[in-house]
Amino acid sequence: MRFQAIQTAQSRKICKVKTDISDIPALFGSNVFGHDAMKEYLGKEAFKAVNEAVKTGLPIQRDVAQKIADGMKQWALEKGATSFSHWFQPLTGLTAEKHDSFYEVWDGKAIEKFSAGSLVQQEPDASSLPSGGLRNTFEARGYTAWDPSSPAFIMEKASGKTLCIPTIFVSYHGEALDYKAPLLKTMALLNKAATQVCNYFDKNVKHVGASLGIEQEYFLVDKAIYDARPDLIMTGRTVFGHAPARGQQMDDHYFGAIPSRVFNFMYDLELESMKLGIPLRTRHNEVAPGQYECAPMFEEINLAVDHNQLLMDLMEELGRKHGFKALLHEKPFAGINGSGKHNNWSLITDTGVNLLSPGSNPNANLQFLTFFINTIKAFHDSAPVLRASIASASNDHRLGANEAPPAIMSAFIGSTLTKVLNDFKSNKKISDKSTDNEVINIHNLPEILKDNTDRNRTSPFAFTGNKFEFRAVGSSENCGRPMITLNAAVACQLIQFKKDVDALVAKKKKTEDAIHEVLKGYLKASEKVLFEGNGYSEEWAVEAEKRGLQNIKNSVDSLDSYLGKNADEIFVKTGIFTKEELHARYEIKLEDYIKKIQIEGRIMDELVYTHILPAALQYQKRLADTINSMISSGSTKTSIKGLADLLNEIAGHTNNLKTSTDNMVDERKAANNISDTKQKAQAYCNKVKVSFDLIRRHADKLEHLIDDDLWKLPKYREILFVR
Ligand code: ADP
Ligand code: MG
Repeated sequence: MRFQAIQTAQSRKICKVKTDISDIPALFGSNVFGHDAMKEYLGKEAFKAVNEAVKTGLPIQRDVAQKIADGMKQWALEKGATSFSHWFQPLTGLTAEKHDSFYEVWDGKAIEKFSAGSLVQQEPDASSLPSGGLRNTFEARGYTAWDPSSPAFIMEKASGKTLCIPTIFVSYHGEALDYKAPLLKTMALLNKAATQVCNYFDKNVKHVGASLGIEQEYFLVDKAIYDARPDLIMTGRTVFGHAPARGQQMDDHYFGAIPSRVFNFMYDLELESMKLGIPLRTRHNEVAPGQYECAPMFEEINLAVDHNQLLMDLMEELGRKHGFKALLHEKPFAGINGSGKHNNWSLITDTGVNLLSPGSNPNANLQFLTFFINTIKAFHDSAPVLRASIASASNDHRLGANEAPPAIMSAFIGSTLTKVLNDFKSNKKISDKSTDNEVINIHNLPEILKDNTDRNRTSPFAFTGNKFEFRAVGSSENCGRPMITLNAAVACQLIQFKKDVDALVAKKKKTEDAIHEVLKGYLKASEKVLFEGNGYSEEWAVEAEKRGLQNIKNSVDSLDSYLGKNADEIFVKTGIFTKEELHARYEIKLEDYIKKIQIEGRIMDELVYTHILPAALQYQKRLADTINSMISSGSTKTSIKGLADLLNEIAGHTNNLKTSTDNMVDERKAANNISDTKQKAQAYCNKVKVSFDLIRRHADKLEHLIDDDLWKLPKYREILFVR
């Protein structure tokens, strides 16, 4: 299988893509029922109703919904769609679809039908999607409901075209079972809180939205080689594999020339993304061999999350077409870099101001500092919950592994802003001639910042000029999860800020002075989270502990913060989640962790017995036979010492491989008998997973020692370099 796979990969033809640049403008959004399509296919009233619903978040009347359904159907049929589907994001982290045909059979004839009901609400039998106990089987119904703020689109697959309608997914009793419903709630909360704060500076601001630009890292491996690795198929990562002679130490992959097969995949991905209105912009090689990155231009946060989910689906689909498998796992290969997903986040007003962009006048700068410091304070207060919001068995491989940000949540702001904040704290003011007021000295910030490109790759939360970049997010994550947390934390913080400022104003303080005073207090209370140094260093771990910052390396323990006081503040008190919903999410994540480690344990066990031991024993026998025949033909002990040592070494690893695997299986069985989810997850983490390294060490040694012809699993050098 291994050699066949390599041959298939080597002889694979490059899949051609259409490269006519001229039709790109027409391509963009061509499969989206967006502004222009709606204008054309909906009557005036329906068009207005959709726009209103998007703006206000209020529901659409049934009769208008029917008009929208009619227009949407007509558009979709003209585009060649034959069925429609509510498209949602259950707590599996993947996307889900339930397809229905536009056609119904009446009197032996197929007629088109798409009712307002089918547009607005559906009831997928979703009893096997995770609910964390929120849905008892006797009322297992889940409902999907249209989210008009994310436009419908047509998904093209080889098998046909489907109209997809982005929806939220809730239980019979209305509890959220997805990532979209709570994200929409946090957006409303954030809008309200941020707008009120903005109004201290500009009364014209009526709406504030969060923007998000997501950089997606991934690996591409040949599909045939992938298919010869049962561990990749089952878990998304290689549980075995000796380090190749050459990994990423030559630094020759980063920004290097993109191989043409890969280039065509990327180009196709861009074209297909365009059709869906995903504004993909950059593409390049990443640090590790076979690793790449793409990033769209930032969008409104709900749309950006939807688009990233769609992008991941497209990668899967187009990978198949180009003979690749796109790996989205955080750590597909040991010893070389893993993949993340930088979440670039900011706040933008309806007047077009980026609130995290330093302004060119003192008033704008104070506004900038207000949002900047409040975000830092929110990050400080909610750091443990933010850590939990990116926790997964797969992301554990990255956080703290000296390639991605550490598990310690700190924020990097750069030397200029560090100085600005220090001046601000120590009250350095200058007089501003235009207003005759004393203001803080941050006049020329934009100019300075433009040149100030000192980036710190080791920080989980970095300010990069006009946005914060949450870098600890894993490559396979649904960004909804961390963004719900960040939005909620910042919204809560802004609500508190307004209260604190208003309280001082009520005591006859000038608004600007009140803002200064409150911000200064926040800065003092949260500055321990600011760190400019090397996040990978040992000293930082020591220093962070002194500062009282958490450093929780495993997901299981980090999830505890979902049940803590801060989570209650930002989620429950604000109405984003009920206590039950929050607990359900905690349970689901623990269960997800258990299942992932369980599957990894099982595939290790299987591969050891069916792939590695047979090969090792065969080679061992060959060696033993050789030694025996040498002895019987008169060789001395000294002359065969080297061979005997090799035999012993191999026999040692073979034996230890078996016993360590059996121990792991015993621990797995013991863990399975634990009924409490948390304790079970802990057992999987501390008893089962810990033994993986040892098993792997023996297996990888054997890979290195035995006859290449006998080895069944494609080796790292083949997976990473053959294409
Ligand atoms: P990097 O150097 O980290 O690769 P880029 O300039 O390429 O940074 O931007 C990364 C991402 O940040 C892109 O998706 C970009 O659209 C996004 N981005 C830029 N400005 C903002 C903003 N104001 N809000 C949110 N995302 C933004
Ligand atoms: Mg970045």
